Amino acid sequence: MAESGTILQPAPRARVLAMKEYHPPLGNRDAVRLDFNENTLACSPKVHEALGRISADALTRYPERAPVEALAAAYLGLGAEQVVLTNGVDEAIHVLFETFLDADDELLLPVPTYTMYEVYASATNARIVRVQAGDDLQFPSERLIAAIGTKTKVIAIANPNSPSGSAATRDQIVALARLAPHAVIFVDEAYYHFHGETVIDLVGRVPNLFVARTFSKAYGLAGLRIGLMAGPIDLMRWVRRVISPYSVNSVALACLPMALEDSAYVDSYVAEVLAARAEFESALDSAGLRRWPSRANFVLVEIGPKHAEFVERMRAAGVLVRDRSSDPGCDGCVRITIGTREQMRHAAAVLRDAIVQLGDVGGPR
Ligand code: PMP
Repeated sequence: MAESGTILQPAPRARVLAMKEYHPPLGNRDAVRLDFNENTLACSPKVHEALGRISADALTRYPERAPVEALAAAYLGLGAEQVVLTNGVDEAIHVLFETFLDADDELLLPVPTYTMYEVYASATNARIVRVQAGDDLQFPSERLIAAIGTKTKVIAIANPNSPSGSAATRDQIVALARLAPHAVIFVDEAYYHFHGETVIDLVGRVPNLFVARTFSKAYGLAGLRIGLMAGPIDLMRWVRRVISPYSVNSVALACLPMALEDSAYVDSYVAEVLAARAEFESALDSAGLRRWPSRANFVLVEIGPKHAEFVERMRAAGVLVRDRSSDPGCDGCVRITIGTREQMRHAAAVLRDAIVQLGDVGGPR
Protein backbone atom coordinates (compact mmCIF):
# COMPACT_ATOMS: atom_id res chain seq x y z
CA MET A 1 0.00 0.00 0.00
CA ALA A 2 1.27 3.44 -0.83
CA GLU A 3 1.35 5.93 2.00
CA SER A 4 -0.93 8.84 1.35
CA GLY A 5 0.70 11.36 -0.99
CA THR A 6 3.33 8.89 -2.29
CA ILE A 7 3.10 8.14 -5.99
CA LEU A 8 3.99 4.55 -6.77
CA GLN A 9 6.05 4.24 -9.91
CA PRO A 10 8.15 1.49 -11.44
CA ALA A 11 11.87 2.23 -11.11
CA PRO A 12 14.39 1.31 -13.80
CA ARG A 13 17.38 -0.85 -12.89
CA ALA A 14 20.07 0.98 -10.93
CA ARG A 15 22.43 0.74 -13.90
CA VAL A 16 19.90 2.42 -16.15
CA LEU A 17 19.34 5.19 -13.61
CA ALA A 18 23.08 5.85 -13.68
CA MET A 19 23.30 5.91 -17.51
CA LYS A 20 24.17 9.17 -19.24
CA GLU A 21 21.73 10.44 -21.82
CA TYR A 22 22.99 10.39 -25.38
CA HIS A 23 21.31 12.58 -27.97
CA PRO A 24 23.27 12.73 -31.21
CA PRO A 25 22.36 15.90 -33.15
CA LEU A 26 20.18 14.27 -35.82
CA GLY A 27 17.81 17.20 -36.38
CA ASN A 28 17.92 19.93 -39.05
CA ARG A 29 20.51 18.30 -41.26
CA ASP A 30 19.57 19.77 -44.65
CA ALA A 31 23.10 20.99 -45.33
CA VAL A 32 26.46 19.50 -46.33
CA ARG A 33 26.49 16.54 -43.90
CA LEU A 34 30.04 16.22 -42.61
CA ASP A 35 28.90 15.28 -39.10
CA PHE A 36 28.00 11.55 -38.99
CA ASN A 37 30.58 9.90 -41.27
CA GLU A 38 27.84 8.83 -43.64
CA ASN A 39 28.13 8.53 -47.39
CA THR A 40 27.47 12.17 -48.35
CA LEU A 41 25.98 11.42 -51.77
CA ALA A 42 23.71 8.42 -52.33
CA CYS A 43 23.58 4.65 -52.31
CA SER A 44 24.12 2.65 -55.50
CA PRO A 45 21.37 3.36 -58.09
CA LYS A 46 20.96 -0.42 -58.39
CA VAL A 47 20.10 -0.62 -54.69
CA HIS A 48 17.62 2.20 -55.16
CA GLU A 49 16.00 0.26 -58.00
CA ALA A 50 15.76 -2.85 -55.82
CA LEU A 51 13.95 -0.71 -53.26
CA GLY A 52 11.41 0.30 -55.90
CA ARG A 53 10.71 -3.35 -56.75
CA ILE A 54 9.54 -4.33 -53.25
CA SER A 55 5.91 -5.41 -53.51
CA ALA A 56 3.08 -4.63 -51.12
CA ASP A 57 2.72 -8.37 -50.51
CA ALA A 58 6.37 -8.64 -49.51
CA LEU A 59 5.84 -6.08 -46.76
CA THR A 60 3.07 -8.13 -45.17
CA ARG A 61 5.54 -10.90 -44.29
CA TYR A 62 7.99 -11.12 -41.44
CA PRO A 63 11.53 -10.81 -42.80
CA GLU A 64 13.49 -13.98 -43.53
CA ARG A 65 17.09 -13.26 -42.65
CA ALA A 66 18.78 -16.60 -43.31
CA PRO A 67 19.11 -16.61 -47.15
CA VAL A 68 20.59 -13.10 -47.21
CA GLU A 69 22.82 -13.97 -44.28
CA ALA A 70 24.18 -16.93 -46.25
CA LEU A 71 24.77 -14.68 -49.25
CA ALA A 72 26.63 -12.07 -47.17
CA ALA A 73 28.72 -14.80 -45.53
CA ALA A 74 29.69 -16.26 -48.92
CA TYR A 75 30.61 -12.78 -50.13
CA LEU A 76 33.01 -12.50 -47.19
CA GLY A 77 34.42 -15.99 -47.73
CA LEU A 78 32.80 -17.25 -44.50
CA GLY A 79 30.30 -19.95 -43.62
CA ALA A 80 26.65 -18.99 -43.04
CA GLU A 81 26.85 -20.08 -39.40
CA GLN A 82 29.70 -17.64 -38.80
CA VAL A 83 27.70 -14.57 -39.78
CA VAL A 84 24.68 -12.82 -38.33
CA LEU A 85 23.00 -9.85 -39.99
CA THR A 86 22.14 -7.08 -37.56
CA ASN A 87 20.15 -3.87 -37.34
CA GLY A 88 23.32 -1.88 -37.94
CA VAL A 89 26.59 -2.50 -36.11
CA ASP A 90 24.91 -0.88 -33.12
CA GLU A 91 22.74 -3.95 -32.68
CA ALA A 92 25.80 -6.18 -33.05
CA ILE A 93 27.46 -4.27 -30.18
CA HIS A 94 24.30 -4.42 -28.06
CA VAL A 95 23.76 -8.14 -28.62
CA LEU A 96 27.43 -9.03 -28.12
CA PHE A 97 27.57 -7.17 -24.81
CA GLU A 98 24.28 -8.73 -23.67
CA THR A 99 25.66 -12.15 -24.54
CA PHE A 100 29.03 -11.87 -22.82
CA LEU A 101 29.12 -9.09 -20.20
CA ASP A 102 28.08 -10.31 -16.76
CA ALA A 103 28.26 -8.59 -13.39
CA ASP A 104 31.95 -8.22 -12.39
CA ASP A 105 33.17 -8.69 -15.95
CA GLU A 106 35.29 -5.99 -17.50
CA LEU A 107 35.02 -4.34 -20.89
CA LEU A 108 38.41 -3.00 -22.01
CA LEU A 109 37.90 0.10 -24.09
CA PRO A 110 40.68 2.06 -25.74
CA VAL A 111 39.50 5.68 -25.66
CA PRO A 112 38.60 7.96 -27.31
CA THR A 113 36.31 5.72 -29.34
CA TYR A 114 32.80 5.20 -30.66
CA THR A 115 30.20 6.35 -28.11
CA MET A 116 27.79 3.42 -28.35
CA TYR A 117 30.23 0.98 -26.73
CA GLU A 118 29.89 2.91 -23.47
CA VAL A 119 26.15 3.30 -23.88
CA TYR A 120 25.50 -0.43 -24.24
CA ALA A 121 28.12 -1.47 -21.70
CA SER A 122 26.71 0.88 -19.10
CA ALA A 123 23.34 -0.87 -19.40
CA THR A 124 25.00 -4.14 -18.31
CA ASN A 125 26.44 -4.84 -14.88
CA ALA A 126 29.98 -5.04 -16.20
CA ARG A 127 32.72 -2.52 -15.44
CA ILE A 128 34.18 -0.34 -18.18
CA VAL A 129 37.98 -0.11 -18.06
CA ARG A 130 39.04 2.81 -20.24
CA VAL A 131 42.52 2.77 -21.70
CA GLN A 132 43.52 6.25 -22.80
CA ALA A 133 45.42 6.72 -26.07
CA GLY A 134 48.43 9.05 -26.00
CA ASP A 135 48.54 12.54 -27.51
CA ASP A 136 49.05 11.02 -30.96
CA LEU A 137 45.72 9.13 -30.53
CA GLN A 138 47.30 5.98 -31.93
CA PHE A 139 45.98 2.57 -30.86
CA PRO A 140 47.25 2.11 -27.26
CA SER A 141 48.39 -1.46 -27.75
CA GLU A 142 50.89 -1.70 -24.88
CA ARG A 143 48.53 -0.09 -22.38
CA LEU A 144 45.72 -2.42 -23.42
CA ILE A 145 47.92 -5.46 -22.94
CA ALA A 146 48.88 -4.18 -19.49
CA ALA A 147 45.19 -3.75 -18.61
CA ILE A 148 44.22 -7.35 -19.45
CA GLY A 149 43.18 -9.22 -16.32
CA THR A 150 41.24 -12.32 -15.32
CA LYS A 151 37.99 -10.33 -15.39
CA THR A 152 38.52 -8.98 -18.90
CA LYS A 153 35.60 -10.30 -20.92
CA VAL A 154 35.36 -8.12 -24.00
CA ILE A 155 37.89 -5.85 -25.70
CA ALA A 156 36.15 -3.52 -28.16
CA ILE A 157 38.26 -2.04 -30.93
CA ALA A 158 36.93 0.26 -33.64
CA ASN A 159 39.31 -0.27 -36.53
CA PRO A 160 39.78 2.34 -37.92
CA ASN A 161 38.78 4.17 -34.79
CA SER A 162 36.44 7.14 -34.48
CA PRO A 163 37.01 10.02 -33.86
CA SER A 164 40.79 9.64 -34.20
CA GLY A 165 40.96 7.89 -37.59
CA SER A 166 43.87 5.77 -36.35
CA ALA A 167 44.08 2.00 -36.86
CA ALA A 168 45.32 -1.04 -35.01
CA THR A 169 47.51 -3.43 -36.97
CA ARG A 170 46.66 -7.05 -37.63
CA ASP A 171 49.59 -8.11 -35.42
CA GLN A 172 48.35 -5.97 -32.54
CA ILE A 173 44.86 -7.51 -32.77
CA VAL A 174 46.18 -11.07 -32.98
CA ALA A 175 48.49 -10.43 -30.01
CA LEU A 176 45.56 -9.19 -27.90
CA ALA A 177 43.47 -12.20 -28.86
CA ARG A 178 46.30 -14.50 -27.83
CA LEU A 179 46.98 -12.70 -24.55
CA ALA A 180 43.30 -12.65 -23.57
CA PRO A 181 41.98 -16.05 -24.66
CA HIS A 182 39.19 -15.78 -22.05
CA ALA A 183 37.88 -12.56 -23.66
CA VAL A 184 36.03 -11.70 -26.82
CA ILE A 185 38.04 -9.44 -29.13
CA PHE A 186 35.46 -7.37 -30.97
CA VAL A 187 36.85 -5.58 -34.02
CA ASP A 188 34.43 -3.04 -35.45
CA GLU A 189 35.34 -2.52 -39.11
CA ALA A 190 32.61 0.05 -39.83
CA TYR A 191 35.17 2.10 -41.82
CA TYR A 192 36.92 -0.87 -43.45
CA HIS A 193 36.41 0.29 -47.03
CA PHE A 194 38.40 3.48 -46.49
CA HIS A 195 41.21 1.62 -44.71
CA GLY A 196 41.49 -1.45 -46.92
CA GLU A 197 42.85 -3.71 -44.17
CA THR A 198 40.79 -6.34 -42.40
CA VAL A 199 40.99 -9.24 -39.98
CA ILE A 200 37.71 -10.79 -41.14
CA ASP A 201 39.68 -13.61 -42.77
CA LEU A 202 40.81 -14.62 -39.26
CA VAL A 203 37.25 -15.30 -38.10
CA GLY A 204 37.08 -18.97 -37.12
CA ARG A 205 40.88 -19.21 -37.06
CA VAL A 206 41.38 -16.95 -34.05
CA PRO A 207 38.95 -18.60 -31.60
CA ASN A 208 37.88 -15.44 -29.70
CA LEU A 209 37.65 -12.96 -32.59
CA PHE A 210 34.44 -11.23 -33.70
CA VAL A 211 34.38 -8.72 -36.57
CA ALA A 212 31.58 -6.31 -37.48
CA ARG A 213 30.87 -4.50 -40.75
CA THR A 214 28.26 -1.91 -41.61
CA PHE A 215 26.38 -0.85 -44.72
CA SER A 216 25.86 2.62 -43.23
CA LYS A 217 29.12 4.18 -44.39
CA ALA A 218 30.68 3.44 -47.79
CA TYR A 219 27.50 1.74 -49.09
CA GLY A 220 25.36 4.75 -48.22
CA LEU A 221 22.60 2.80 -46.45
CA ALA A 222 22.60 4.34 -42.95
CA GLY A 223 18.85 4.82 -43.16
CA LEU A 224 18.20 1.11 -43.75
CA ARG A 225 20.00 0.07 -40.54
CA ILE A 226 21.92 -2.95 -41.67
CA GLY A 227 25.22 -4.42 -40.59
CA LEU A 228 26.69 -7.78 -39.77
CA MET A 229 28.86 -9.57 -37.28
CA ALA A 230 31.10 -12.54 -37.95
CA GLY A 231 32.50 -14.83 -35.29
CA PRO A 232 33.46 -18.41 -34.45
CA ILE A 233 30.51 -20.81 -34.75
CA ASP A 234 30.73 -22.11 -31.19
CA LEU A 235 30.44 -18.60 -29.74
CA MET A 236 28.09 -17.27 -32.37
CA ARG A 237 25.41 -19.72 -31.24
CA TRP A 238 25.09 -17.80 -27.94
CA VAL A 239 24.76 -14.55 -29.85
CA ARG A 240 21.96 -16.12 -31.88
CA ARG A 241 20.08 -16.89 -28.68
CA VAL A 242 20.09 -13.22 -27.73
CA ILE A 243 19.43 -11.53 -31.06
CA SER A 244 15.89 -11.05 -32.30
CA PRO A 245 15.09 -13.14 -35.40
CA TYR A 246 13.13 -10.12 -36.67
CA SER A 247 15.52 -7.23 -36.13
CA VAL A 248 16.66 -6.78 -39.73
CA ASN A 249 13.72 -5.51 -41.73
CA SER A 250 12.66 -6.91 -45.09
CA VAL A 251 13.41 -3.68 -46.96
CA ALA A 252 17.05 -3.85 -45.86
CA LEU A 253 17.15 -7.58 -46.71
CA ALA A 254 15.76 -6.92 -50.19
CA CYS A 255 18.42 -4.29 -50.87
CA LEU A 256 21.45 -6.05 -49.45
CA PRO A 257 22.13 -8.50 -52.32
CA MET A 258 22.25 -5.62 -54.78
CA ALA A 259 24.49 -3.59 -52.47
CA LEU A 260 26.96 -6.47 -52.32
CA GLU A 261 26.77 -7.08 -56.05
CA ASP A 262 27.41 -3.48 -57.08
CA SER A 263 30.90 -3.37 -55.64
CA ALA A 264 31.94 -1.03 -58.46
CA TYR A 265 29.75 1.65 -56.92
CA VAL A 266 31.40 1.34 -53.50
CA ASP A 267 34.87 1.26 -55.05
CA SER A 268 34.24 4.47 -56.95
CA TYR A 269 32.76 6.22 -53.90
CA VAL A 270 35.74 5.17 -51.76
CA ALA A 271 38.22 6.36 -54.42
CA GLU A 272 36.47 9.74 -54.50
CA VAL A 273 36.61 10.05 -50.70
CA LEU A 274 40.29 9.12 -50.56
CA ALA A 275 41.14 11.74 -53.19
CA ALA A 276 39.05 14.29 -51.29
CA ARG A 277 40.71 13.35 -47.99
CA ALA A 278 44.20 13.98 -49.37
CA GLU A 279 43.15 17.39 -50.70
CA PHE A 280 41.32 18.36 -47.54
CA GLU A 281 44.21 17.32 -45.31
CA SER A 282 46.49 19.62 -47.31
CA ALA A 283 43.96 22.43 -46.90
CA LEU A 284 43.99 21.88 -43.11
CA ASP A 285 47.77 21.90 -43.10
CA SER A 286 47.87 25.15 -45.08
CA ALA A 287 45.42 26.65 -42.59
CA GLY A 288 47.93 25.77 -39.85
CA LEU A 289 45.55 23.47 -38.00
CA ARG A 290 46.69 20.38 -36.14
CA ARG A 291 45.07 17.18 -37.43
CA TRP A 292 45.51 13.47 -36.88
CA PRO A 293 46.31 11.16 -39.83
CA SER A 294 43.16 9.32 -40.85
CA ARG A 295 42.50 5.86 -42.25
CA ALA A 296 38.75 6.57 -42.52
CA ASN A 297 36.24 8.95 -44.14
CA PHE A 298 36.73 11.67 -41.55
CA VAL A 299 39.48 13.70 -39.99
CA LEU A 300 39.92 14.99 -36.44
CA VAL A 301 41.06 18.62 -36.27
CA GLU A 302 42.16 20.68 -33.29
CA ILE A 303 40.29 23.98 -33.25
CA GLY A 304 41.04 24.92 -29.63
CA PRO A 305 38.85 26.72 -27.07
CA LYS A 306 36.57 28.15 -29.77
CA HIS A 307 35.47 24.69 -30.98
CA ALA A 308 31.76 25.24 -30.26
CA GLU A 309 31.69 28.62 -32.02
CA PHE A 310 33.54 27.08 -34.94
CA VAL A 311 30.91 24.32 -35.29
CA GLU A 312 28.16 26.96 -35.12
CA ARG A 313 29.81 29.13 -37.77
CA MET A 314 30.23 26.17 -40.07
CA ARG A 315 26.57 25.27 -39.55
CA ALA A 316 25.49 28.85 -40.29
CA ALA A 317 27.42 28.59 -43.56
CA GLY A 318 25.67 25.30 -44.43
CA VAL A 319 28.35 22.76 -43.43
CA LEU A 320 27.68 20.37 -40.55
CA VAL A 321 30.70 19.12 -38.57
CA ARG A 322 30.86 17.37 -35.21
CA ASP A 323 32.20 18.74 -31.96
CA ARG A 324 34.22 15.96 -30.26
CA SER A 325 35.79 18.18 -27.61
CA SER A 326 34.25 16.20 -24.75
CA ASP A 327 35.77 12.91 -25.95
CA PRO A 328 38.68 11.82 -23.70
CA GLY A 329 41.93 13.33 -25.01
CA CYS A 330 40.13 15.41 -27.67
CA ASP A 331 39.87 18.78 -25.94
CA GLY A 332 39.08 21.47 -28.53
CA CYS A 333 38.69 18.96 -31.36
CA VAL A 334 36.16 18.76 -34.15
CA ARG A 335 35.58 15.78 -36.45
CA ILE A 336 34.92 16.47 -40.12
CA THR A 337 33.53 13.76 -42.39
CA ILE A 338 35.13 13.51 -45.83
CA GLY A 339 32.69 13.67 -48.72
CA THR A 340 33.39 14.31 -52.39
CA ARG A 341 36.16 16.61 -53.64
CA GLU A 342 33.57 19.19 -54.61
CA GLN A 343 31.98 19.12 -51.15
CA MET A 344 35.36 19.25 -49.43
CA ARG A 345 36.61 22.20 -51.52
CA HIS A 346 33.50 24.04 -50.43
CA ALA A 347 34.00 22.92 -46.81
CA ALA A 348 37.64 24.06 -46.89
CA ALA A 349 36.60 27.52 -48.11
CA VAL A 350 33.93 27.80 -45.41
CA LEU A 351 36.45 26.60 -42.81
CA ARG A 352 39.01 29.22 -43.86
CA ASP A 353 36.39 31.96 -43.48
CA ALA A 354 35.31 30.59 -40.10
CA ILE A 355 38.82 30.61 -38.67
CA VAL A 356 39.53 34.10 -40.00
CA GLN A 357 36.32 35.37 -38.39
CA LEU A 358 37.00 33.62 -35.09
CA GLY A 359 40.69 34.55 -34.99
CA ASP A 360 43.12 32.78 -32.68
CA VAL A 361 42.03 29.27 -33.64
CA GLY A 362 44.07 26.10 -33.11
CA GLY A 363 45.61 24.54 -30.04
CA PRO A 364 48.99 25.22 -28.49
CA ARG A 365 51.57 24.24 -31.11
N1 PMP B 1 30.95 1.60 -35.35
C1 PMP B 1 31.60 2.75 -35.48
C2 PMP B 1 33.05 2.80 -35.17
C3 PMP B 1 30.92 3.88 -35.93
O1 PMP B 1 31.55 5.06 -36.04
C4 PMP B 1 29.55 3.80 -36.24
C5 PMP B 1 28.72 4.95 -36.75
N2 PMP B 1 28.90 6.16 -36.36
C6 PMP B 1 28.92 2.58 -36.06
C7 PMP B 1 29.64 1.50 -35.62
C8 PMP B 1 27.44 2.44 -36.28
O2 PMP B 1 27.18 1.69 -37.40
P1 PMP B 1 25.70 1.32 -37.80
O3 PMP B 1 25.12 2.47 -38.53
O4 PMP B 1 25.88 0.11 -38.66
O5 PMP B 1 24.95 1.00 -36.54
